[in-house]
Amino acid sequence: MIVCKFGGTSVASAEQIQKVANIVKSNPARKIVAVSAPGKRSGDDIKVTDLLINLAMAALKNEEIEEELQIVVNRFMAIADGLELDHTICDVIAEDLHERVQGDKSNEEMFIDSIKAAGEDNNAKLIAAYFNSIGMPARYVSPKDGLVVNDLPERTYALPEAYANLAPLRSTKEIIVFPGFFGYTKAGILRTFDRGGSDITGSILAAAVEAELYENFTDVDCVFSANPKVVNDPVEIKEITYREMRELSYAGFSVFHDEALMPVYKIGVPVNIKNTNNPSAPGTRIVPRRSVTGRPVTGISADSGFSTLYVSKYLMNREVGFGRKLLQILEDENISYEHTPSGLDDISVIMRSNQITLENEERILSRVKNELNADDVQMRHGFSMIVIVGEGMRNNTGLAARAATAISKTGANIEMINQGSSEVSLVFGVLQEYENQILQALYEEFFAHARV
Ligand code: ASP
Repeated sequence: MIVCKFGGTSVASAEQIQKVANIVKSNPARKIVAVSAPGKRSGDDIKVTDLLINLAMAALKNEEIEEELQIVVNRFMAIADGLELDHTICDVIAEDLHERVQGDKSNEEMFIDSIKAAGEDNNAKLIAAYFNSIGMPARYVSPKDGLVVNDLPERTYALPEAYANLAPLRSTKEIIVFPGFFGYTKAGILRTFDRGGSDITGSILAAAVEAELYENFTDVDCVFSANPKVVNDPVEIKEITYREMRELSYAGFSVFHDEALMPVYKIGVPVNIKNTNNPSAPGTRIVPRRSVTGRPVTGISADSGFSTLYVSKYLMNREVGFGRKLLQILEDENISYEHTPSGLDDISVIMRSNQITLENEERILSRVKNELNADDVQMRHGFSMIVIVGEGMRNNTGLAARAATAISKTGANIEMINQGSSEVSLVFGVLQEYENQILQALYEEFFAHARV
């Protein structure tokens, strides 16, 4: 059995949904189909999810919402017309939206979630109706029937019982159309995953039914070895391991939601990223293991917007509990961190700058200075992290030297180096303004010259 997921652009219009039907029909193993809400039809279009967020915000402010609601209904109506479905489905959708906006507003986050999820939920109903109308027996299944998630305020994730609940879908006769992006708590409260979270739903379904393959249909032919917006015509990645994909989860690799790796990883279901507009292209396969031949480096990614908390204290290495106390201060501020390179007497904690405000920065600096008696404490902003990833990097002598030389030629200073303990990744912290230049230089070094 194959579980496939179709992203926003793949289900944005009647024409796109027809392509989806053809893809599903062409392989009888494609029995479970997770769908996104209709996404952008062109560059300047608005995703239905964003329209729904606008609608939820207007409802919370007690503004007139009829116009905003109608814009959403019209998007579904255009799709239904294009698919020659009768308008009953649009009436069902309009009624559903009215019901949602009249829902309980006492918890704003929960209210917004319930409206945000209407894009996926109604699209799944519409697509199931369309499949049936063209003679493909299909059934809409709601996440209410088993996709149990945790409670607020944590990030949303599926509870272990969700997998057992959804496992019986494996024996389905019809095609199941399942809305992506949300689940329900044990108390029946709807909660959405992160933006782009329909990938996560597809992955949960694939793991639950122990699918042979999870196909993730999007609008690009494959994952590239570097961000094509920065590097000209980068090499396509045909096969990559879960671990490599995870390490590359910075900019340029967002085709597949990084949280979506976990469910399939646990069971070992391979993922195939494919293009709805070019389904015969082989795409990129994400697999548990692969044989390493050729290049040691699989991909290079980069992201800006990092800050560094630098702390030094003489004899830090002998002070039991120093690291815990430092990280506790960040935990108290609800800050997560990405890397912690350290020396004998100093440590840097690297985190996303969007978690730092003027107030919490001041509090952190003074607590570290006073509670940990640090000799020097500094918070610096404006860094980028550049990550080189490859299973073949392990046991490859001289790779770090090649990378450092390539970076030095751009004139940038390397502010931080961190080699993941698994030796499949090497991270460089640099000043943000050098990011693109470095990405290009590293790509030249490890890919363009085909020197392996
Ligand atoms: N519709 C949601 C979003 O725009 C989820 C998804 O498409 O995966 O983020």
